[in-house]
Amino acid sequence: MLKVVLALDCLIYLLCPTDAPAWGYQGHEVVGSIADKLLNSNARQQVGQILGEGFDLRVAGPWADCVKSVVRYDDGSFHYEVDPDHLEYEVPCTPFNSREERARIVDYAQRNWSTCSYAPDGHERGCHNTFHFDDIAVQRTRFDRSYLGGSDHDLVAAIGAAVAVLTDKPVPPPFPFSIRDKKEALLLIAHFIGDLHQPLHVGAVYLDANGRPVDPDTAHGIDPATDTIGGNAIQDENLSLHHEWDDIPTDIGEAATTELLAAARSLPASQGSISDWPAAWASDSILVSHRAFEGLTFRLIATLPANKWSVAFADHAGYLQAMDAIKRRQLAKGGARLAELLNAIWP
Ligand SMILES: [Zn+2]
Repeated sequence: MLKVVLALDCLIYLLCPTDAPAWGYQGHEVVGSIADKLLNSNARQQVGQILGEGFDLRVAGPWADCVKSVVRYDDGSFHYEVDPDHLEYEVPCTPFNSREERARIVDYAQRNWSTCSYAPDGHERGCHNTFHFDDIAVQRTRFDRSYLGGSDHDLVAAIGAAVAVLTDKPVPPPFPFSIRDKKEALLLIAHFIGDLHQPLHVGAVYLDANGRPVDPDTAHGIDPATDTIGGNAIQDENLSLHHEWDDIPTDIGEAATTELLAAARSLPASQGSISDWPAAWASDSILVSHRAFEGLTFRLIATLPANKWSVAFADHAGYLQAMDAIKRRQLAKGGARLAELLNAIWP
């Protein structure tokens, strides 16, 4: 019976997972920029050859979010559409404005649209949107795909699929990924390693109707009526808690800083084989996410079809200070590990 309940919960989960861009584009550019500076000469040459003239990991970082501008028309055709209400989304996507690059974006979205279900607000958005996150409960201390909030089309699986393509191995079934070539795999990796280090893209808090944390991996499961949608349904003033974590400290800008590079260089090397790294890094982000939910209390303001939570902070100033420090550390880790992964692929 428990199995049936869990299966149902997973099904419900598939219908209402997180919808979020992860680090703002600046965060993805910063992660890519740190990695650009830490590549060994072989990896730098390979990256340059695969991405082509004018592209580096900094430019590649936001690509997988640019894909979110692809929509499916009622006649089944796919189109790249600029959202007039969010012209800022286009800023990091201009390097991909050529006919060839636009065609690649639309083709990628089309190939990865129907391989799973993703309709968080009743509007089908394409399976590729699920590749950006996991929603593992804060009660967990490590990543395991069998936990609720993980799936065979989650962030860790997506990174594994891209690594497979870059290392000339078949994408392991049953993961539903279509990655056309090494360029596409590199564009994805440059983005997803960034996502993996945004703590709210991996760890999630699950609450009951009274705002008390509950453990979805027990019989409680995930209740769609109280789901925080990866922190997207938690509102703090005008922003969701998730988006507050997406924004990076403004003094960093859009590229690696001396401070971040030093932090990236001092990060201990990852242990084990490449194939173990994405899950190990996800485990690390789950532990980091614990701090992101510490000292917070929640109140349910609205429920289905659109859940809305308010949040109160035990120590708001202290929280913001900790958040700032965590973001810097996570950006440095993201950049260091993106380079570490590519240096291991091309030693
Ligand atoms: Zn993302």
